[in-house]
Amino acid sequence: MRVRTDGDTAVARAGALECLREARLRPFWLDSPEAPAPRPPLAGEERCDLAVVGGGFTGLWAALLAKERDPSRDVVVLEAVTAGWAASGRNGGFCMATLTHGLSNGVERFPKEQRRLEQLGLANLDAIQGAVERYGIDCDWQRSGEVLVATEPWQVDGLREEYELLRRFDRDVRLLDRDEIQAEVHSPTYRAALWELDGCAMADPARLAWGLRRACLDLGVRLYEGTPVTSLETEGAAVSLVAPGGRVLARHAVLATNAFRPLLRRLRPYIVPVYDYALMTEPLSAARRAAIGWTTRAGLADTTSQFHYYRITDDGRLLWGGYDAVYHYGNRVHPALDARPATFEKLAGQFFETFPQLEGVRFTHAWGGAIDTCSRFFAFWSTALRGRVASVLGYTGMGVAESRFGAEVCLDLLSGRETELTRLELVRSRPIPFPPEPLRSATIQLTRRSLARADAQGGHRDLWLRTLDRFGLGFDS
Ligand SMILES: Cc1cc2nc3c(=O)[nH]c(=O)nc-3n(C[C@H](O)[C@H](O)[C@H](O)COP(=O)(O)OP(=O)(O)OC[C@H]3O[C@@H](n4cnc5c(N)ncnc54)[C@H](O)[C@@H]3O)c2cc1C
Repeated sequence: MRVRTDGDTAVARAGALECLREARLRPFWLDSPEAPAPRPPLAGEERCDLAVVGGGFTGLWAALLAKERDPSRDVVVLEAVTAGWAASGRNGGFCMATLTHGLSNGVERFPKEQRRLEQLGLANLDAIQGAVERYGIDCDWQRSGEVLVATEPWQVDGLREEYELLRRFDRDVRLLDRDEIQAEVHSPTYRAALWELDGCAMADPARLAWGLRRACLDLGVRLYEGTPVTSLETEGAAVSLVAPGGRVLARHAVLATNAFRPLLRRLRPYIVPVYDYALMTEPLSAARRAAIGWTTRAGLADTTSQFHYYRITDDGRLLWGGYDAVYHYGNRVHPALDARPATFEKLAGQFFETFPQLEGVRFTHAWGGAIDTCSRFFAFWSTALRGRVASVLGYTGMGVAESRFGAEVCLDLLSGRETELTRLELVRSRPIPFPPEPLRSATIQLTRRSLARADAQGGHRDLWLRTLDRFGLGFDS
């Protein structure tokens, strides 16, 4: 890996650089002999009941749920690369129950609906667990919860408020003081923590995606990989989806393309691709594991605007990700953006500040990936071509579990019937779109700078952030 070596902090950074020296620039989870061999691309013309564009979690769930609802339904998945290669196979593996990017965000936007949304989110997480068991998906599924840690004094009050809110919604949560959190996970930086026991499971995301892929194939879903869909239009009573090697005529279609350029032009202003980065350590020795405690393997995250998320794998490695959320002018998405040495170096330095006792640990993998950020931070749905096409986008860094719910809603929308899900304000409303370039880039950079300042100044939000808050707008990963 190429890293910068200039600057007067070179000595302090030397350890971070050394431990990154051998890191492979690819997602740890995908760098596995368990990766399935790709299926051949579409060649010629096919007909089906349901075509799904995109083979990440959303697309795989859409195909699987469609088959579960009606096994005779003929389902085709068209995936540009290979199923699970993008965000779904390279994320932190935090499967969060929330459908609104956290309870407080939901309460602000849907005060009347939020209690039901919490129930639906928990039921969605249970349903994922049910599928993992039913299809025998070996993805290291752990219902260990998520621990939010406060590392600055002003964050402690924030955690207490969040705890009280969660309790009002009957959630299974614990507030931990400094001694209690430090007894669980040994870091000198911790001041307090909030443990959401019921709201999060941890999984190996690539193995989950590959397991869903396998389940789809076993149920008779036809999957074409290496098949980018280039256009979408009505043809008689069908939807025509064109790819370089052929086309599919479908009665209905689900679009599950996440941070990539939406096929429906009118959806383009609603999402921006934001790059998020992560590191994976070598397996920790027993002595190093003992030095950090953390026997529960719950997922951890800190509570600054620029936050870290981190977790332990089944082979005893530590994943450390987050902090920088990078937007590239013009909604650029490209494999070259998956590696960002400056961010890797920064992440490594912050890792050792949190766990100084792990000095000398090496990182084996460093990678990034695009997140489909929208201004309200959770999914939104749309239909097109007279109700024959449904799309879900905008998970904003929390789509591992929500993707199943997103797919379920798409199928309800395509059914043409009103259901409990299609009646939700959550489903019927949309985020506010981003402005066009160059304003888009300028406002995102301004917001990022303001968020960094807020973190550095005891959480104090400046006029710009307060204005965005007033309009229910934001930028997150
Ligand atoms: C580094 C990182 C860490 C994250 N950590 C977490 C986390 O811990 N918890 C969490 O909940 N979320 C996390 N996320 C977000 C989460 O991974 C996503 O929200 C989720 O995987 C979205 O699934 P998806 O199927 O919608 O998208 P993707 O997995 O991105 O799949 C979209 C698929 O569509 C395909 N595609 C696009 N356009 C076309 C086309 N025209 N034709 C055919 N195929 C097409 C792509 O090739 C891709 O395979 C993280 C994301 C990243 C990048």
